[in-house]
Amino acid sequence: MHTPISRRTVLAASGGLAAGVAVGPTALSTAAAADPASTNGYIDVQLVNITDLHGYLQPPADNDGGIITGAGGVKLQVGGVGYLATHLKRIREGHANSILCSSGDNFSGWPYYVDSQNNEPTIEVLNALGLRFSSVGNHELDKGTDFLFQHMQDGHRYPYDEPFVDFVDSTGRRFHGADWKYYTGNVVYRDGNRLIAPAYNIEYVDAGHGRRIPVGFIHLTVEGCVEGPGFNCSYQPTLATTDLIAAANRSAAALQRRGVRALVVVMHQGGYAGPDFNSGTNPTGPAFDLAAVADPDIAAIVTGHWHCRFNMMVPGPDGVPRPVTEAGCYGQVITEVGLKLDPTTGRFVRELTTATNHAVTRDVPADPQVQDIADYWSAASDRLAATRIARQTGDLVRTPNDDGESTFGNFVADFIVWDARQDGPRATAEFGFLPVLPPKGRSALAGDLRYAKGTGAGDDDGVICYGEAWKSYGFDSPIVTVTMTGDAFHRGLEQQWQTQADGTVQYAPVAVSQQVRYVYDVTKPVGQRVDPATVTIDGQPLDLGRSYRVATNAYTVLAYDGYPAFTEYTDAVRHSLDHEGFIRYLRLRTVVTPPALGRARSATTQHAPSYTPPPQPGPHARPEPPASAPPTEPRLAARPGYRGVDHGVVWTECACPTGQHHDQPGMARVGRPIPAAWSSQSWPPRPVGSVTSAACVAAASARRYPAGSAAASASGGRSPVTPSARNASRCRTSASPGTSNESQATWAVRSVEPSGTGGTCRPCR
Ligand SMILES: [Zn+2]
Ligand SMILES: [Zn+2]
Repeated sequence: MHTPISRRTVLAASGGLAAGVAVGPTALSTAAAADPASTNGYIDVQLVNITDLHGYLQPPADNDGGIITGAGGVKLQVGGVGYLATHLKRIREGHANSILCSSGDNFSGWPYYVDSQNNEPTIEVLNALGLRFSSVGNHELDKGTDFLFQHMQDGHRYPYDEPFVDFVDSTGRRFHGADWKYYTGNVVYRDGNRLIAPAYNIEYVDAGHGRRIPVGFIHLTVEGCVEGPGFNCSYQPTLATTDLIAAANRSAAALQRRGVRALVVVMHQGGYAGPDFNSGTNPTGPAFDLAAVADPDIAAIVTGHWHCRFNMMVPGPDGVPRPVTEAGCYGQVITEVGLKLDPTTGRFVRELTTATNHAVTRDVPADPQVQDIADYWSAASDRLAATRIARQTGDLVRTPNDDGESTFGNFVADFIVWDARQDGPRATAEFGFLPVLPPKGRSALAGDLRYAKGTGAGDDDGVICYGEAWKSYGFDSPIVTVTMTGDAFHRGLEQQWQTQADGTVQYAPVAVSQQVRYVYDVTKPVGQRVDPATVTIDGQPLDLGRSYRVATNAYTVLAYDGYPAFTEYTDAVRHSLDHEGFIRYLRLRTVVTPPALGRARSATTQHAPSYTPPPQPGPHARPEPPASAPPTEPRLAARPGYRGVDHGVVWTECACPTGQHHDQPGMARVGRPIPAAWSSQSWPPRPVGSVTSAACVAAASARRYPAGSAAASASGGRSPVTPSARNASRCRTSASPGTSNESQATWAVRSVEPSGTGGTCRPCR
């Protein structure tokens, strides 16, 4: 914990008891441990884990993750970093060997107050909480590895983030990055197959009498998160993910070769095990698959990413149970794992491991120092929202003209091309487009920018403020330039009209950039309404056989919004995150003028049907997934249009008898081959993350977790997971040093902390 430093702006201290609805177990009790060596000769090690904070510094609203369910269905009001800090202090008090870690998705926060401020406030809070290390979550990769490691972790300047290039923290000092490091063992650069971060870290615990014993922490990141379908924000074409279990066992073997026998997995991938935050039933998900087979030296598996809460004991391949836990999201829950380290063997005594999930209730005083940081940034975001960034000469609205065009649609399509063309040698975009009212999912155009003064602070006629610009366009989807054939682009234009099951035709207009003109005829059949001969790019006829470099939001090419032809792309490169680039564009333009319409024209007197831009909640008022819902609902995944869709689970194989969810986003079946990193995962059965049918879930569960209640007694009465023989044998194969699995890979990790942009690498041993 840092020495308290007064904020630059002293805000009302918000400590003290907060009103809440907390009932039931407050779960603050922690069995006192005798540190460093307990009476039986074992060393007590306390592992404390949080996950998926997502920048929720202030208590989340009740309908936005602020309520969790406990035993017997009791509801608890939870969250807020001030309360989190108080609970952490109480839980950790008296434990000499207490280690606080996170399973990732700490930042890329969704609340406007951190999202609009580059997420640096979240790092400042986690520094104050004393975080020791974190796994890389998918959202840590939303702006790429340079941003994550060079800027957020190491505090180097990040030159692309006006006005945050030289971010100043709440104490008035320049942002210095995290006081802790990120790790992951299964995200690699495609170029060279080198890991983006060290796969594991070693912490030394005090064994008394000057002895220190190493504990190895193995880190993993959700598979598929950088490859695209199923993930939007973290789409990183230069990266790839690899198999979780192989990576876990590879790190375990590497640590064992270094003499480290006390192992823990901290992973940004999880599962679901019922609604009670501190127990579990009917476990499902990749964390449990891993738990059933991963190296027996791993004493505990703390997970994340699913935004679920559970605490279970699951037998490993040797039949001995070990904790598999997840601590929800937004600071709802703290996981405490009590480990007994045998100083003679250097191993954890797995039979003595305990785990508790503590609810971060609000019936305790908020820690004044940490709450002060959160309040400082809330106030700063209000001031930022009121900052004037540009002027406008007229309305920029989504309301269409007779031909279906809108000033705001055209404006943003032009912005996308501008942004793509700012990117040095990667600036290859010839034109661009953006769905205005897509067939499914959501539109990136969330609001209008009207000339008339709005209700926000700082606004005036003809003035665009930071806050209104941020909320009018974007949902943290990266702008990409992709290669697309003229034929695919033409078919995408045709797909603005899609015949529905009831025979009606849905109109799903697409805004095109100023380089594009075309004529449509709604009297023609669907699929033949845009004569390719009328499509021009910079005045030249569209060449159906030629490849073009085209800019758009990643969301569209990743198949979220329902234009199949637009998903036929190759050679994607990323540019800005959408609303960050948009803010930059407006600032640089200073004065913006509504663009001319007339890029799409009707060939007849019949026009495209009019449409009303849907009233949208705005990118930062998204609905919360029913994280506690049973997996028979389209939970977390397969929710196009929902911001958290990239928490969808991307599986390569369908464990569902019907195969129905292959049609859903995230199943990697939409016009593109399965990325190589996935197709190497040949082991069925895979969990069914986006299943919508109860029968499907039941079938898959029965196959993966056959009734093996003989293990129930061994697992302390908690629900067992029986590892399949197939997975167990696979585990042995990949865990054995010198097998083909081990030797084929050309793994490398940074052996020292990166300096400059490259870092120093060496083969992983
Ligand atoms: Zn998350
Ligand atoms: Zn995640």
